[in-house]
Amino acid sequence: MTRALVIIDMLNDFIHPDGSLYCGPAAASIVPAVERLLQEARSSGEPVIYLCDRHRPDDPEFEMFPSHCVAGSWGAQIIEELQPQRGEHIIPKRRYSGFFGTDLDLRLRELGATELRLVGVCTNICVLYTACDARMRHYRVAVVKDAVASFDAEAHRWALREMDKTLGVKLE
Ligand code: ZN
Repeated sequence: MTRALVIIDMLNDFIHPDGSLYCGPAAASIVPAVERLLQEARSSGEPVIYLCDRHRPDDPEFEMFPSHCVAGSWGAQIIEELQPQRGEHIIPKRRYSGFFGTDLDLRLRELGATELRLVGVCTNICVLYTACDARMRHYRVAVVKDAVASFDAEAHRWALREMDKTLGVKLE
């Protein structure tokens, strides 16, 4: 069984205090934990996938949220601490789920990955809906509790419980 580390939306607009949709100190505080997991994945040869919000300037999502992660902007870039290395996979997405309208499922199959470990932001949005779609496709999914976060602490706790109890996600 091959496991892949999936790093979700660790981008300047969400994680950097100057970002246009900064998710707050809870989000910034997971950076060291994600960094540690990234180093571990690299040393054990585990595939690393970066799922990255990347919007058109007129994306309808901006009716709900302020403009963020516009393709080509500083805000859409992966934070400095987690810069990808050669051979790691960057998958842009326009919606909450990393599977919707993206190359993710095909890439995972090519890698032979059957188990995903999810880290990043936000627990109750892109982590939750990516976990949901992964489970619907019968991937095994784990979420690392101290390496996911949200701007909304209550929604963060609710989403962890929902993933655990309803989706069969393993909380690590
Ligand atoms: Zn977005």
